[in-house]
Amino acid sequence: MRSSGFPCRYGGCERSYPVQDQSSMAALTAASAARSAHEIADHDYHHATLPEAPRLTSYRAIRRPKDAATSRPSGI
Ligand SMILES: [Zn+2]
Repeated sequence: MRSSGFPCRYGGCERSYPVQDQSSMAALTAASAARSAHEIADHDYHHATLPEAPRLTSYRAIRRPKDAATSRPSGI
């Protein structure tokens, strides 16, 4: 249980939020969101970085070139 999940980042707190399904992106973000909500509610602690946005954009960056390749004009 300790290897997977999101531990509270507030110093001295040992609470952690396990990810229900490791292969699910939604489960990862849900556990991360639950951890962040706990940090704010219980400690009034706001972590500086946004956990979701950078990963989502890189996922899309990988998928996009594939669409561009298939929609190539064939009029030669
Ligand atoms: Zn905590």
